[in-house]
Amino acid sequence: MKFDENIRNYIYGEMEPPISGEYIDNYNPATGEVYSKIPDSDDRDVLRAVKGAERAFPAWSNCGVKKRFRILTRIADIIEQNLESFAKAETTDSGKPIALSRSIDIPRAHSNLRFFATAILHFASESHYMEREAINYTLRRPIGTVGCISPWNLPLYLFTWKIAPALASGNCVVAKPSEITPMTAYLLSRACKEAGLPAGVLNVVHGYGHKAGQAIVEHPSVKAISFTGGTETGRKIAEIAAPKFKKLSLELGGKNPNIIFADCDFEKMMTTTIRSSFSNQGQICLSGSRIFIEKHLYTVFRDEFVKRVKNLTVGNPFSDKTDLGAVVSSAHQSKVLNAIDLAREEGGQILCGGNAVKVPKCEKGYFIQPTVIEGLDAHCRTNQTEIFGPVVTLIPFETEEEVLAYANSTEYGLSATIWTQNISRAQRVADKLDAGIVWINTWLTRDLRTPFGGMKNSGTGREGGWEALRFFTEPKNVCIHF
Ligand code: NAD
Repeated sequence: MKFDENIRNYIYGEMEPPISGEYIDNYNPATGEVYSKIPDSDDRDVLRAVKGAERAFPAWSNCGVKKRFRILTRIADIIEQNLESFAKAETTDSGKPIALSRSIDIPRAHSNLRFFATAILHFASESHYMEREAINYTLRRPIGTVGCISPWNLPLYLFTWKIAPALASGNCVVAKPSEITPMTAYLLSRACKEAGLPAGVLNVVHGYGHKAGQAIVEHPSVKAISFTGGTETGRKIAEIAAPKFKKLSLELGGKNPNIIFADCDFEKMMTTTIRSSFSNQGQICLSGSRIFIEKHLYTVFRDEFVKRVKNLTVGNPFSDKTDLGAVVSSAHQSKVLNAIDLAREEGGQILCGGNAVKVPKCEKGYFIQPTVIEGLDAHCRTNQTEIFGPVVTLIPFETEEEVLAYANSTEYGLSATIWTQNISRAQRVADKLDAGIVWINTWLTRDLRTPFGGMKNSGTGREGGWEALRFFTEPKNVCIHF
């Protein structure tokens, strides 16, 4: 599959230019160069996509789960067979190391499709028996046309995480990937054509969030919105969708605590903490950006952690030796560097990193050194605001109560990690954390059947497993009197 070409929308089975005829520059973050063009779509393209979805809905929603299973599995197969092209496209578009695209992003995308293709074969609804009087059974039918909007950090991974359950449960979809990383969603639309997905079942409209994205949210025929992205964008989407009584699933930002007790398995904790801090340049909603260390381990932890972080290689994302590639855009690089400046102003000491990096042959790319900061209060702006880059802070603590208060002090509640060999303490702390996902002695171990999502300003609703299939279906209770 070729990926270095201009992107087109995928509407009612056809690859189409935007009605405006306007395009957005698509940058390669490792070189700072424009390498393709993205449709600058608007409400007219969205209207065509919604009409296409509405035409396709009666047949798709009634074709039977076996047919949907077969087609979604075929799409998964095509992605898997073209893993290298998809991985190259993902790395070129996002700046992430190619090893990550090959081993995580693209495999997870075809797993998402296979997972929900098979899940729908097993999906069942409930019945409620009223003794000798009546029986209720619950029908679960697809909603109709639904909107799926995804961010740039895990492009195809999160795009498929939404559209797979939506399609498997019989909906037709109008989807928009991030305008910053649209290439693999475009390749996916070509894979859908090749797999024989009927026209209009999936429509991919590219463009800016405030234009194409907002038009999807505003359209009265789009009955549900599944969104992953920033908390402020989620708030805006909720403001538009709530008065129209649309079903909403919002997966938003995080500022996740990584809590390290002195009795942890030190080596396992250390190697995992390097990953949870800097994988994907720290641009993972689940990254553990606030590291809390029990006081009598603090110095030992800090010295070893900083030593290992200094050994990480920031480099060309296509090199196998690279640990951290480029951050996703020039604007994002400035945002992260400004956050590091704020940490300095707030009195933080930069133990390593703190600056942009010039990478040979990628001099115009957007690279940042992995950065470790200490000496900041848990309540300062640096420790309360999502940075979403290769930046972590270290904070010592003495008691469980103290660390729980720190961990729960932000507006977010997405994920948390606990490191201890004490099983009672691990469960006590897990129980009291304000987080939708808690990992004990691990990070990012994912079972696709589990509920995925955040508390507080990290979102509403849950994705994954039955939760996603329930979100994308409308329950109807039928009561039969004896
Ligand atoms: P973003 O909110 O800027 O954009 C996300 C998507 O929304 C993009 O496709 C964008 O074009 C679109 N959009 C923007 N404005 C819109 C509007 N008014 N109406 C409709 N759509 C609109 O987020 P981002 O910068 O792409 O991603 C980073 C954020 O995503 C971080 O905050 C991160 O924590 C969060 N995130 C959360 C999860 C999770 O599962 N909770 C996963 C990944 C990323």
